[in-house]
Amino acid sequence: MDRTAWGYATHPQELVALVRFKSSVVLPEIPRDITPNTRYCYEKLQQTSRSFSTVILTLHPKLRDAIAVFYLVCRAIDTIEDDMKPKKEDKIPHLRTFHEKLYQPGWKLTGYGDVPHEIELLEKFDRVIDVFQTFPPEYQVVIADIAREMGNGMADFLEKTVDTLEDYDLYCYYVAGLVGEGLSRLFAASELEDKSFSTAKQLWNSMGLFLQKTNITRDYKEDVEAVHPRIFYPKAIWGKYVKRVQDLKEPQYKRQAIQCLNEMITNAMQHVPDCVDYLGKLHEPSVFNFCAIPQTMAIATLALCYNNYQVFQKEVKIRKGEAVHLILNSTNLSDVTPFRTFNPRLRFGLTPF
Ligand code: CA
Repeated sequence: MDRTAWGYATHPQELVALVRFKSSVVLPEIPRDITPNTRYCYEKLQQTSRSFSTVILTLHPKLRDAIAVFYLVCRAIDTIEDDMKPKKEDKIPHLRTFHEKLYQPGWKLTGYGDVPHEIELLEKFDRVIDVFQTFPPEYQVVIADIAREMGNGMADFLEKTVDTLEDYDLYCYYVAGLVGEGLSRLFAASELEDKSFSTAKQLWNSMGLFLQKTNITRDYKEDVEAVHPRIFYPKAIWGKYVKRVQDLKEPQYKRQAIQCLNEMITNAMQHVPDCVDYLGKLHEPSVFNFCAIPQTMAIATLALCYNNYQVFQKEVKIRKGEAVHLILNSTNLSDVTPFRTFNPRLRFGLTPF
């Protein structure tokens, strides 16, 4: 229903955006004058994330290669974390020592990953390491620091569950807040953004937590129905409504499920003021787009999820036209400031400012 003509009839600005996007925007190409290994990294990026590869390829050349490799390093660690087939005692050492491998030319790993492009990323990881080693030391240290902390944090959480709100924030810090840190430190090291970005922990952490909490909130059904379910809704929230987190998808608990969902959304929304603050401090246009687009998508996703029982019944995604409308309109701060750009569904009684 959402992606039919009716969807566009009720949201004509999205149809306009989609047409504008398809007719005028050429997807960015991989730069020509690069080494075969750098080209390989961009190709891998395109295979593993269409949306990230698009925003990364349009970044300022001073940052483009480093952020592409940073993405692949995080993705490789995440692939090991997500693969529930190997025994914990086999995969935990890989997570804890992954950062050391960045300094071991020729290192690669077989037997990890759930899909072909992830398996290949690890099987040919020596090619990513080769590119990493061409970076200036100030870039290398950022990527290696984040890999160390992320791998260790994920390893810790393989041995415990997300119970308290503190656990929830800590898990999200390891998997997403640290991405915000790495990006912010790379922005500062490139001198395209202010040096203060390298120490703005509260702000970069909020940028990551907001995105991660949005994904966790939206992905309940996918996570609970996975072959090896891993639930990231904190018990401190779902425990107020049901006895077992799996009960949220049972029809007799519909009312409780919606209340729980709305509390998850409220928890995510607490990070919005910091996100707006962070975006307001950026100067370089390509960096602004790179940061703002995922944030606007997340806000739109939460607006769609609010009070929406479908989160427990099917995959909930924003319409393609809406996504394109947001991409085309995420080029300056007044465009992305919540409650201004977004549709009326967002006015759900929260006052985040
Ligand atoms: Ca993961």
